[in-house]
Amino acid sequence: MLGARLHQARKANGLSLRALAEKVGVSAMMLSKYERDESTPSSSVLIELSNALGVRAEYFFRTAQIELERVEHRNRHRWKLPKIAETKVLADVRDQLERWHELDEITPAPWSVQFSLPDDLPDSIDSLDQIETVAVLVREHWELGLNPIPDLIDTLEARGLKVFTTRFDDPRFEGMSARSGDHHVVVVGRMWPGDRQRFTLAHELGHLVLDDRLVDELDKEKAADRFAGAFLVPAQKVFEALGVHRRLLEIYELYLLKQEFGLSISGWIHRALDNGVIAKTTHAALRRIMVGNGWDKTEPGDQYPPETPRLFEQTVYRALGERWISESKAAELLSTTVRDLGTFRRMELVNADS
Ligand SMILES: [Zn+2]
Repeated sequence: MLGARLHQARKANGLSLRALAEKVGVSAMMLSKYERDESTPSSSVLIELSNALGVRAEYFFRTAQIELERVEHRNRHRWKLPKIAETKVLADVRDQLERWHELDEITPAPWSVQFSLPDDLPDSIDSLDQIETVAVLVREHWELGLNPIPDLIDTLEARGLKVFTTRFDDPRFEGMSARSGDHHVVVVGRMWPGDRQRFTLAHELGHLVLDDRLVDELDKEKAADRFAGAFLVPAQKVFEALGVHRRLLEIYELYLLKQEFGLSISGWIHRALDNGVIAKTTHAALRRIMVGNGWDKTEPGDQYPPETPRLFEQTVYRALGERWISESKAAELLSTTVRDLGTFRRMELVNADS
């Protein structure tokens, strides 16, 4: 256990066995034994190691205390995620949560806005239509009004939700939500177009908002989908944009609305049906156009740009700027090397698009 943590911290600092051995004053071979748990460092060596690696000694003894509860996956519309892929995603999420946790612990400012939901949400939700109101209540509580949300990840992070993209790139992974103690976590695959990511995020938010409140007869996935649509484009905006009743909808019309609201063309067709703007027959006809052109898989025209979480990185740099953490600690938290961190600090960003 200690070995794995030591290895992780050494890599985070970009040090070879030899380089760390020199700093600490033990042999590289001994260090390698520590990392394989074949030998245990004395307490004085541990102190040397923690100084050299910019971690507190307790770091080495921390087991994965991050437990994820109530994990909900979104892959209903896709192939099932293989177990091994799921394990990797969960490990990545735990790792990212752990680093947030650590940042919270070592800095004086309480960063984390507490995630909160409106007090007046109904305890029991017994119809999908009721979810329209719930989505608007959440928007009101978060002072979002009814307009398009330009940067959903930023918006959710600012409301205390932990939003991660997983570094584990598997096109089969769309998203998940979980809780870990006080933290509410949503995770989204970073390989999807932005409209798809946003729907997934809003869907995962839907799970966090709804799952305790739904009556047994309501399908959790359908409810989360309804929430996602209603959160991204509240009913009132659907009526303003499309009118109250329509016999036909233009695909290009929906494409323009997609650019404005970050909800896919398919999502708009669904919203129109859910709010009674179009009849089931019109919906079926529009679906046939979408499927017939393969647009249900890849939507036509420009893709909506994907989003990236920035809060963690930004907070690490603030902590560095405040001199609450060392450069090596910042590098460790960002899973990078001190050297690479230095290039960012000097704004040498020419090759920084990786
Ligand atoms: Zn779901």
